[in-house]
Formats: sequence, structure tokens, C-alpha cells
Amino acid sequence: MLSQAVTTKPSQLVPFDGKAQTDGSHQPLFGLDTGALTARMVEAGEPAYRGKQLAENLYRQRVTELDAMTTLPKLLRQRLRDEGWQVGRPGIAQVFQSVDGTERYLVEGQDRQSFEAVWMPEGDEGEAGDGSEETGKSWSRATICVSSQVGCAVNCQFCLTAKLGLQRNLSAGEIAGQVVAVLDRHGVEVGRDRVNLVFMGMGEPFLNYDNFMAAVRLLVREVGLSPQRMTVSTSGIVPGIERFAQEPAEVRPKLAISLNAPNDAIREEIMPINSKWPIQAVMDAVRLVKLRPRERVTFEYVLLGGVTDRSEDARQVARLARRTGLPVKVNLIAWNPGPGIEYLTPKPEAVELFRVTLAGEGIPTYLRKPRGRDIYAACGQLKRTVEG
Ligand code: SAH
Ligand code: SF4
Repeated sequence: MLSQAVTTKPSQLVPFDGKAQTDGSHQPLFGLDTGALTARMVEAGEPAYRGKQLAENLYRQRVTELDAMTTLPKLLRQRLRDEGWQVGRPGIAQVFQSVDGTERYLVEGQDRQSFEAVWMPEGDEGEAGDGSEETGKSWSRATICVSSQVGCAVNCQFCLTAKLGLQRNLSAGEIAGQVVAVLDRHGVEVGRDRVNLVFMGMGEPFLNYDNFMAAVRLLVREVGLSPQRMTVSTSGIVPGIERFAQEPAEVRPKLAISLNAPNDAIREEIMPINSKWPIQAVMDAVRLVKLRPRERVTFEYVLLGGVTDRSEDARQVARLARRTGLPVKVNLIAWNPGPGIEYLTPKPEAVELFRVTLAGEGIPTYLRKPRGRDIYAACGQLKRTVEG
């Protein structure tokens, strides 16, 4: 085995799990942070600064091939490859473009199982003074939405991803890799362009907690994104929220809770997870999070026609929001239909009445614009519609 090589020659860059790749496959470097990369380099008898250079190439220069890492000596690049390493960043396998500028991607990881990411540009309507003239880009700000798992085990009745069941967790490198691949595709200059990141694609981030948080740390510390421009959405996994509350502010995204119903009875019907962690338990956990000045917790609320979209529901949501004592805002989302799901899209009048009622009760309320309907840009829809 490579890892038991005699020690008279420089030690080898043994893959993290200590196993040599005998089947010709390669271990990904993408996903290791500067500390881990440095440790690998030092173990292999290389100078420590090579770790930093590798991280620069992977996360700042967004290099996808070892050969393109021109700041590293050719011999070292060769050696890395010979010893079973590759960049290993997940790649965009398919792109679907919407008339509204939204792009949806099928991204492939190591096992070629695909997952979804979405790019939603704004400010491309030609408004004056939005800053896009200075950058020469067609957008002045954008939101990237990424997945945390392939499929999901939570089984919300209105969600298409739920139909896939849980296929597998994504690794930290795969979660962060989606983001970097999309940044790269659009030539985003981190620190200069306004890009928000939402963990609202496929899967439940708090049921893949360690990999999700490792990805956040990579995105903050290596890629240079701000956690204050990131939002993680959870269906209300209480132990996950409790762990999240312990994270240092430096790497803690903002929090969104998929509330989706005005009370436990309706929530349990549409989100079976509510019987395990009812609304009160979720709110008690959310209260543990030490919010930054002016930070709000988002309640996401999917409007299901005839089920959760009555103005009485809006009044109950307002009461519930006030009772939490938390600074909150509500994001309303009209339900996106999908094959095999029996709910109804809410009527536009019902959506408007709901919004006005909630806002009238003093709750900051936003209506999420439907984006990319023509490319099935609702949660989990693309994979289902493409792969059948
Ligand atoms: N699993 C996490 C994050 C991914 S789902 C969560 O549930 O919060 C992201 C958001 O999309 C959730 O608020 C969910 O309620 C919403 N959603 C799921 N399916 C939807 C659909 N068909 N139409 C509109 N919103 C949907
Ligand atoms: Fe999973 Fe979120 Fe879909 Fe529920 S809404 S099934 S938690 S992805």
C-alpha cells in the first residue's frame, strides 16, 4: 500500500482516508481547507506554503485542472496526479435557461449522481443606477441556490424533492463546489459583486449538518463570501437548529424556517416532521440563535390553494410570529405544482389578500417572484422532469 511506503524517500500525498486509489479513480482536493492542504504538503516533504497556493488555485482562481495550477512547480503537479489526486470540483452537466434570466443546473459529483443549483440574476431589466454599468455585467446582483443532499428524507407533502426519497448526502466539497462552479460560470468577482447564497435547493441541510457547515466554512474562509449574505433554510430540525445556535457569527449564515402553516394541525398534515418537532419546539430552538444587529429570522410560507392561503391563516401566522418575540419576516411563495402532487396553486387574489393581511398586522412580508417557471425552477423539479 502506498501509505506504508518506506520512509527514506519523501512521504507520499496519501489520500485522506489513508487508502490508495487502486481503481484509477482520484481523490478530490476540492473540499479540503488550507489547513488540511498544508498538512498534506508538509507530510509529503513539501514546503508549507504550497498548501496556501493550492487553496488559492482551488477557491480564488477557481482552477479545475491540476495542470492549470501554474503557481505550482510542474513536478509537484505531476506528483499529485501520480499519487491519486485531482481537483475534483463538481461540474455543471446541463444548463436550462429561462426567459427571465434564471439558469438552472444539473450538477454532477464524483458518482455522477446529479443535483441542482440555480442562478437568479436581478437588475437586468435595464434600470438606471443599479451599478451594472460599472461592472459591465448584465446583472447587478444575483442569488445562487444550492442543494445539500440528493433527494430528501423529510417527506413534505407538497415538495417534489420528497418524492425522490433520500439518495445520499452531498460532501462539503460538493456543496461548496456547486457555488464555485456557478461563480465561475458568471465571472463573479467575490468581494465586489453582490451575490447572495441560499441553501434552499434539494435536501435538508440540517440532516447533513457536518458537511453543510464544513461547506459554509470553505465558502467564508477560502472562497471569501460573507455569511451575512447566506441563508440556510430548514424544515425545523430542532437538534440541527440547536447546533447552529452554537456556531460563531463569523461562519453563521442567516436562518430561515419553513413554517408553511398557521398552526400545528395543518402543519402536521403537510409536513409530517411536525409531529416530531412541533412549532413551539422549533421556535424555542430558534430563540437560542444569537442574532446580529438588525438580523431577522425568515419564515418561509408556501401558499397551498385552499389549504394554507385563507386570510384567517394569515392572521394566525401574524399572531404566531408576534408570540415568538423574535424579529421575523415572512417570505410568501405561491406553491409550484409538480407531477403527482395533488395540491392547488393559490389564486392570485388569495395571494394578494394573504400578503396584505399579514403586512397589515405589522409583519414584514415579501412575496417571492416566481422565477424560471418555464424551466421548472421550483424545488426538485428539474431532476424529476429531466430524468423522469
Ligand atoms: N429542506 C429545506 C430547504 C430546501 S426546500 C426546507 O424545507 O426548508 C426550500 C423551500 O422551498 C422550503 O421553504 C419549501 O417549503 C419550499 N418548497 C418546497 N417545494 C415547493 C414547491 N413545490 N413550491 C414552492 N415552494 C416549495
Ligand atoms: Fe425536504 Fe425541504 Fe422538500 Fe421538505 S420542503 S421534503 S425538507 S427539501
